[in-house]
Amino acid sequence: MLRRTARVLLGLVMTITFALGGAVLTAGTAQADGCYTWTRTLKAGATGNDVTQLQIRVAGYPGYNAVLAIDGSYGPATTAAVKRFQAAYGLAADGVAGPATQSKLYALQDNDCTPAHFTYPELNTCNSTWAGGKVAAGTAKANALSSMWKLEALRHALGDQSIRVTSGFRSTSCNAAVGGASNSRHMYGDAVDLGASPHSLCTLAKQARHHGFRGILGPGYSGHNDHVHVNQGPSRFWSAPSCGI
Ligand code: ZN
Repeated sequence: MLRRTARVLLGLVMTITFALGGAVLTAGTAQADGCYTWTRTLKAGATGNDVTQLQIRVAGYPGYNAVLAIDGSYGPATTAAVKRFQAAYGLAADGVAGPATQSKLYALQDNDCTPAHFTYPELNTCNSTWAGGKVAAGTAKANALSSMWKLEALRHALGDQSIRVTSGFRSTSCNAAVGGASNSRHMYGDAVDLGASPHSLCTLAKQARHHGFRGILGPGYSGHNDHVHVNQGPSRFWSAPSCGI
């Protein structure tokens, strides 16, 4: 009886919340979001797509020279990344992704799931679609999204000043037209070129090492004196001799 009453009450609360467009915050429950809404607190040991969604968004906080696996399994590396994310935004750094952490992520993301300061068109200036690269269009777009969350972390670490994207995904024909390398990660969607100002290229190249990019090419490396290239390729390759790395 008590249980049934509670269920009726819960249903009533949910109905009222729904009627008000989900804008009501109930204790312990983060707000609904236009891109993605978590339905539980995530912590070590959790598995599932909701963990994967979290990992995509905190992958810019793996620590120096590390890459967070996006595997749907909340292990020590995910806990550490969540702690760094929380510390970066002034939250209690407990490594548990509860309502406060989820709310911060909601605040940082747009309804199309891109982070607040980067857009799909910005990462795809060379083509009209995400097709024609080395991977399926959906994969290229997902790779670009992953890189954008890492750029959001880089941007925040550098004082929330803008970061200028000069090139992102390229179809193979587009890559050839702009003189890209024949094996360029731009054709996979995960490479991004960054221009100087307000940050120097060396500042970008050095700081990127903390945010989960396997490839970092900058000043002093052939063809990279006017931009920094970051990517999520399979092997680590950092070179910016003029910056001392
Ligand atoms: Zn590049």
